[in-house]
Amino acid sequence: MTKIFIVEDEAGLVTLLKYNLEKQGYETIVIMDGKEVMPMALTEKPDLILLDWMLPSIPGIDLCREIRKTYELRNTPIIMLTARGDEADKVKGLSFGADDYVTKPFSVPELMARIAALLRRVQPTPVQDNLRFGDVEMDFAKRRVTRGERAVHLGPTEFRLLQFLMEKPGDVLSRESLLKSVWGGSIHVELRTVDVHIRRLRRALNEGGESDIIRTVRSAGYALDLNACDDEEL
Ligand code: CA
Repeated sequence: MTKIFIVEDEAGLVTLLKYNLEKQGYETIVIMDGKEVMPMALTEKPDLILLDWMLPSIPGIDLCREIRKTYELRNTPIIMLTARGDEADKVKGLSFGADDYVTKPFSVPELMARIAALLRRVQPTPVQDNLRFGDVEMDFAKRRVTRGERAVHLGPTEFRLLQFLMEKPGDVLSRESLLKSVWGGSIHVELRTVDVHIRRLRRALNEGGESDIIRTVRSAGYALDLNACDDEEL
């Protein structure tokens, strides 16, 4: 059974989420205090976390970062729930490791669709056991990415992005096509979100001081390129 954490301190919203998620067949665990999230997550290993931004004890954004840094939890999909609607906060939420972001008040069917889409894209459906590009290797059985000898730690969204790029090495992929393949066509995600995740992917791939293999092609998209030396922003 798919286990979802509802990390939220507004009782009314908790009731609404719990009711709707259970109706969809998910198992839910409610956590209302930020400090309980990490210990509970380590024991319960949730399949997805709905994470409120404003929480008692520890803010959602700090928890988000903590989850991504914790080896056992690093691949856990996170959807941030927040009353803040502004673009800067959204980008901040995503850059701290959230996979998606919903602004309160949100429509329940839309949130359910996003949860389903996110769960779908974290289940890898590889055509091969592994993919290789230059010194980067993706091992789907182990769900591991390495660059040379170094392990590259990626969140689920970056993992899917890299998979898609590696399935078509050298091709310039538009942000629209990346959105469609990685996020699913029916979900409304802004094109800028792709850039945020590409930035995170690039950072993780180059963390050891290696050369950049993701080429930004102005107004066209992104491509894997062994000689990607330009770093133009779209
Ligand atoms: Ca709150």
